[in-house]
Formats: sequence, structure tokens, C-alpha cells
Amino acid sequence: MRQIAYDRASSVDDALRAGAQPAAAFLAGGTSLVDLMKLEVLNPARVVDVTRLDLSRIDPSTEGIRLGATATNAAVAAHPEVKRRFPVLSEALLSGASPQLRNMATVAGNLMQRTRCAYYRDLATRCNKREPASGCDALQGWTRMHAILGGSEHCIAAHPSDMCVALAALGATIHVRGPRGERDIPFADFHLLPGDHPEREFALDPGELVTSVFVPATPAAARSRYVKVRDRLSYAFALASCAACLAIEGGRIADARIALGGVGTKPWRSPEAERALAGQSPSPEAFHRAADLALRDARTRRDNAFKVELAKRTIVRALALVAEGA
Ligand SMILES: Cc1cc2nc3c(=O)[nH]c(=O)nc-3n(C[C@H](O)[C@H](O)[C@H](O)COP(=O)(O)OP(=O)(O)OC[C@H]3O[C@@H](n4cnc5c(N)ncnc54)[C@H](O)[C@@H]3O)c2cc1C
Repeated sequence: MRQIAYDRASSVDDALRAGAQPAAAFLAGGTSLVDLMKLEVLNPARVVDVTRLDLSRIDPSTEGIRLGATATNAAVAAHPEVKRRFPVLSEALLSGASPQLRNMATVAGNLMQRTRCAYYRDLATRCNKREPASGCDALQGWTRMHAILGGSEHCIAAHPSDMCVALAALGATIHVRGPRGERDIPFADFHLLPGDHPEREFALDPGELVTSVFVPATPAAARSRYVKVRDRLSYAFALASCAACLAIEGGRIADARIALGGVGTKPWRSPEAERALAGQSPSPEAFHRAADLALRDARTRRDNAFKVELAKRTIVRALALVAEGA
């Protein structure tokens, strides 16, 4: 049996030292990493447990809210300031996984959860993300759950997180510490498109630790909703989802943020749809136009063409709920 070294870090410096060892992986709630280790999809030589680090605080301020990397998904979803000022984030988290999983899963772990592509998780198939340049069996395979935006000829795996869709719409920033110091990564740059290198998934350097996520407070953030469509009401990943945020002034849309889940190879923000909504009065016509633009570049395969219409309807529904203030 393969030996895996285990470190329980008691400070961020400890974690960074251990995380700098070859083939080390940080371990948070373990709900994604341990699964993938059991399947032998991820094979770290060392796991560095970060759950004892003092990184679980949720700090609201007038500028926004800072979410500690090890704050649980349950704690973030239930936080009164998150519910009041960033409802889309609370709703997105509550739509994911199950209560038991949300009690274990953390902010950073959720950011870095891997795709649920069946081919990625099955060692008997070819997957460029799991094994670079080995090929992709999804391209000609069963594609019902796969992405229609942001794919490449090497990978069409959908990004799985609900929380990340909300954070994309909210324009969050990810704070990291690594061997070369600290830095902030804008949310839009954190997840990478597959392109020619699907195995590169995050804009993190080796050994970098996510320490917190900052979410800026805006009028649009306070008026926001998350709509998720899936095969069953709980414990299922999105077929299509939409995080919608609108600021409405004098009957016109002053600021619109739209991000999609279940359809992109990363959390999919749609600047085209946002621009089309700016200055419009909130109406079904404006929402349909925005939805058409958001899906304009969709590329479908045999089993997932239905996602185009489904995603459009999800966007229209999310925008209508925000506009109604429902
Ligand atoms: C049955 C099931 C259903 C699910 N359904 C949904 C769903 O509907 N929607 C949804 O969004 N999610 C869903 N999930 C996924 C779940 O949200 C993730 O498993 C969870 O958020 C991962 O968090 P974790 O703390 O357990 O991460 P871990 O499993 O501990 O780690 C995940 C990854 O993050 C890295 N990591 C962790 N912390 C840090 C850090 N501080 N810095 C750098 N890297 C770090 C780890 O090295 C690993 O690569 C589901 C999971 C399961 C098992």
C-alpha cells in the first residue's frame, strides 16, 4: 500500500513549509480531496491538514466581507451579514451538496473542488485533465453533464461549484500566501480555461495557500438571487444555474452582474449580458435579450444541446426574481 505523509499544521508558516514539499496537498474538509485520493485520481505524497489554522473567521466591514479559508460552507451560508448583504452567496451555498457536507466543506476547498466529469473520475478512461496529453473520452462520450461554454478540443469538463458562481458574479478577490509572499487574485483569473492544458486548473503557484476571500459590498450584491436547475432537489450538481445581481435606480438597471454554473468549464461570468442590461428597465424582453447574449457562444455536443435553452430560462428566472425583489 502507498504511504502518504500527514502533517497537521498549527500555523500558516507551518502549513507553507509543509506545503512546499514535493507533491503536497492541503487538506481542509476532505470532502473532495479524500474522495479523489480513494479513486486514485489525485495522488499526493503528503497531505497538510489546515483545519487547525486560525483562518475560519467571517469578518464583515462597510467595504464588504472577508471569508476565512477554513470557514465552513454552512457557517458562511448562515451568517446574518451574508444573508442580508450577499443573499446570492447564501443561496448558492445552500443549494450545494447536503447539510452534512456543508458542515465539513470549507471556503478554500469549495473554490478548489475538482470537476465531476465521469471520465476524470474513472481511471479506465482517457482524460487530459487527469493525465496530460492522454486524450479525452468525454468528447465523443456521454456529455449530458458537460460544459457548453469555455471548452477546448482537449477538455469539456464542467466546473461544479455553486459558491463559485455567486463569487464570480459578486467580483470577489482571493487572498493567498505562498513561499514568495502574499497576493490577491481577482476571482475571474483564479480558475483557468482548459485550452491546451486542462491539467492546469488554478492560477496558484506550487505551495500557495488560500487564506481568505474578500467579497465587496455593492447595491447589486444586496439585491441578488441564485437559481439552480438539477436532476433532483438536493444532493445534485447543477445542469444550469445563474447568480444574478441587479442595482435598480429610478426604474432602470444601474448595475447588472450575471454568472452561470453547470454550463461553463469555469464559473461563467457574462459581461455581454451585463452590458446589454445596463440602462434598461427591468423587463422580460431585456432579460431574454441578455440570456441570448450569454449563450451566444455555446458549443453543444450530442447529449447537452438542451442546456442552451435551459440556461437561458434559468437566467431569465433569476433576473425576474431579483427584479421582483422576491
Ligand atoms: C456527494 C457530494 C455532493 C456535492 N454536491 C455539491 C453541489 O451540489 N454543489 C457544490 O458546489 N459542491 C458540491 N459538492 C462538493 C463540495 O462542495 C466540495 O467537496 C467541498 O466544497 C470541498 O471543500 P473541502 O473543504 O472538503 O475541500 P477538500 O476536499 O479538503 O479540498 C479540496 C481541494 O482544495 C484544496 N485546498 C483546500 N484548502 C486549501 C487552501 N486553504 N489553500 C489551497 N488549497 C486548498 C485541497 O488541496 C484540494 O485540492 C459535493 C460533494 C459531494 C461529495
